[in-house]
Amino acid sequence: MTDSAPKVGFVSLGCPKATVDSEQVITQLRAEGYQIVPEFEDADMVIVNTCGFIETAVEESLETIDEAVRENGRVVVTGCLGSRAELVRQRFPDLLAVTGPNARDDVMQAVHRHLPAPHDPFIDLVPKQGVRLTPRHYAYLKISEGCNHRCSFCIIPSLRGDLVSRPIDDVLDEAQVLADAGIREILVISQDTSAYGVDLAYATRFWRGQPLQTRFYDLARALGQFGTWVRLHYVYPYPHVDDVIPLMAEGFILPYLDIPFQHASQPILKAMKRPGNRDRVLERIARWREICPELVLRSTFIVGFPGETEADFEELLEFLDAAQLDRVGCFTYSAVDGAAANALANPVPDALKQERYHRFMLKQQAISAARLQRRIGQKLEVLVETPTQSGYLGRSYADAPEIDGLVHIETLDPLAIGEFCRVEITGADEYDLYAVPSR
Ligand code: SF4
Repeated sequence: MTDSAPKVGFVSLGCPKATVDSEQVITQLRAEGYQIVPEFEDADMVIVNTCGFIETAVEESLETIDEAVRENGRVVVTGCLGSRAELVRQRFPDLLAVTGPNARDDVMQAVHRHLPAPHDPFIDLVPKQGVRLTPRHYAYLKISEGCNHRCSFCIIPSLRGDLVSRPIDDVLDEAQVLADAGIREILVISQDTSAYGVDLAYATRFWRGQPLQTRFYDLARALGQFGTWVRLHYVYPYPHVDDVIPLMAEGFILPYLDIPFQHASQPILKAMKRPGNRDRVLERIARWREICPELVLRSTFIVGFPGETEADFEELLEFLDAAQLDRVGCFTYSAVDGAAANALANPVPDALKQERYHRFMLKQQAISAARLQRRIGQKLEVLVETPTQSGYLGRSYADAPEIDGLVHIETLDPLAIGEFCRVEITGADEYDLYAVPSR
């Protein structure tokens, strides 16, 4: 890379699905010889990959575009907010281009138009695994795009379209490249991981001479062979998810499931247009824990959805008590432009939303703290991530990066970043564990 290489500033906002889109664009930019620079003023142009999921994300995206326009002026906007091109164009009429999500080719066309590529991509190579925005030891693996659900609070299907799954051999090829590159943890992402393959009628494909169906179970089992941690995100509690729990108990994939339940009261789930029945979900969780006692469950919820009564909210708190989830995120409901839920009656006043949020968090903090206390004395494998003054920060199988807790490892001995270390848990608070290295 020479100093004369054209320089592109890149900002990646939003969820892991957007991160993967960014990785694809950056990989292509690097393959074509562009340089990625951290400061807007040093760049020849800037790409902003935006999020449009909730109003705060829209605001953050607009602020970032504003900053890029002020400090650089030559800006391409892509990602979920880019699907609302009129809104973006109205506010920033001088953008070079605006594209929707998952639009690597459109973004590259805009780049070529305004900042020609320096040389031939077949000569200048990037690592086989592409350019990743995540640390070297973990990577997101996107298995599908879009979603067949129509949750009333969400505009993702209108931004990203219906479910389009990648054939299983294509996904496994990428996983193989990641494993060969030394990645220690693969995080499977999509909008609905449990629906994987439904759009392809679970097509049979061949991988290393073996027939495999493009479906959730086959994928989980095949990914379990690479010797990396495999973590499943965005799974619905459908009956067929039961089949992967034994794979967790047998150590093929991590005993960790990220299931966004969003609520527990039937009228609210109905208004959200979400499947799910509180009692059946609780039965299912109990059965999963019988098969795989180490199973860790993470979820997210929305409080203050239009029409949520005190009784609905109490039911949600009771669900938390009964489900004893390990990791939980909570959002107060915020209207997203274009979402069907905006038309629902009986909006919850902001002050009440906040009050419910705090009651929810207090309840879950106590549950989470009690569950973490039980870890004291256990020995766990931890992926070492960051040095600290008194040792290192790491993550166990129970902790997804960015969203879950951490393990604080106290030690004077050097540990290798991005490698596994066995530790003994010595303490816990509401979110994190404390540990020392062990044999
Ligand atoms: S499952 Fe619902 S919330 Fe998730 S992307 Fe699909 S429509 Fe949106």
